[in-house]
Amino acid sequence: MRNVVIIGSGCAGLTAAIYAARANLQPLVIRGVEAGGQLTLTTLVENFPGFPKGVQGPELIELMQKQAGEFGAEFREGNMTGVDLSSRPFKIELNQERLETRTLIIASGASAKLLGLESERRLLGHGVSTCATCDGYFFRGKEVAVVGGGDTAAEDALFLTRYATQVNLVHRRDQLRASKIMQDRLRRNQKIRFIWDSTVQDILDAEKREVTGLKLQNLKTGEESLKPLDGVFIGIGHEPNTHLFRGKLDMDDLGYLVTRDGSKTNVPGVFAAGDVKDRVYRQAVTAAGSGCMAAMEAEKFLEAEH
Ligand code: NAP
Repeated sequence: MRNVVIIGSGCAGLTAAIYAARANLQPLVIRGVEAGGQLTLTTLVENFPGFPKGVQGPELIELMQKQAGEFGAEFREGNMTGVDLSSRPFKIELNQERLETRTLIIASGASAKLLGLESERRLLGHGVSTCATCDGYFFRGKEVAVVGGGDTAAEDALFLTRYATQVNLVHRRDQLRASKIMQDRLRRNQKIRFIWDSTVQDILDAEKREVTGLKLQNLKTGEESLKPLDGVFIGIGHEPNTHLFRGKLDMDDLGYLVTRDGSKTNVPGVFAAGDVKDRVYRQAVTAAGSGCMAAMEAEKFLEAEH
């Protein structure tokens, strides 16, 4: 029987692990398919406090994991296939094994949706990014594209105009889904150019390990074209990793976990931290902060039972 099981090994899960381990709760951290979370998909992180020269995303995660391990956190790799929150202790199925835990911290994150191109996968962190706030700075004086037509793409495009010479917004239709105010801002910004009715067929040049352009297709005319540029931001939305909790925990209309009083879910003893409950900020530092909150609340919850 575990005191705390933490689902997810990104910034939120590992910070929760550090706090829970230091509170002598011997947490078990489950590292799933996207172990390490979104930071492992990025390169230099320049906005995490304490690293004036920046730190590589994967290195930051490795350091956090080491820190949690120093205090006695345990780690297990694997795929969770089921969870029973109907009574305590909670039951978790991991690799066909059943675990029991007094409290559960869900930090399973949200995955950025991708276009699904092979070149996109190979160039992620090398000119292809899913986070403008994280990587925009590297595109000073360069030309970039943002793919998508919602608020994320609009916000990313506007943010990127601070650095880039030109931002091409590539959208598959000729109408944006973004809110009216964001659309107005986009249209007023001289650095933004719209490429309507178009999909990205390929991102060049995976062989060179850098982005040199986009192969586009106009869906109305069928015409193919090549757009030379230096970076591409995929802004087609995120998906919270909450499918296992459907019908078991309160979620908003997009599937993000709903928390109250800090990190409490609607089931006492189950807490949520990081991107799985945050559709607004989605930063490493805010995820870490909410991981800390979840661990402190789990500790308080266990204490109250004794
Ligand atoms: P979204 O509203 O679902 O928009 C996704 C966009 O990506 C859509 O324009 C969609 O095209 C396009 N898209 C989806 N899959 C695609 C694919 N495979 N290839 C090409 N294009 C694709 O997602 P979001 O922009 O992340 O926003 C999610 C929610 O968060 C929204 O409620 C939004 O208002 C909110 N949000 C708010 C703010 C803010 O207020 N500052 C910032 C970010 C997000 P179609 O339009 O053709 O479907």
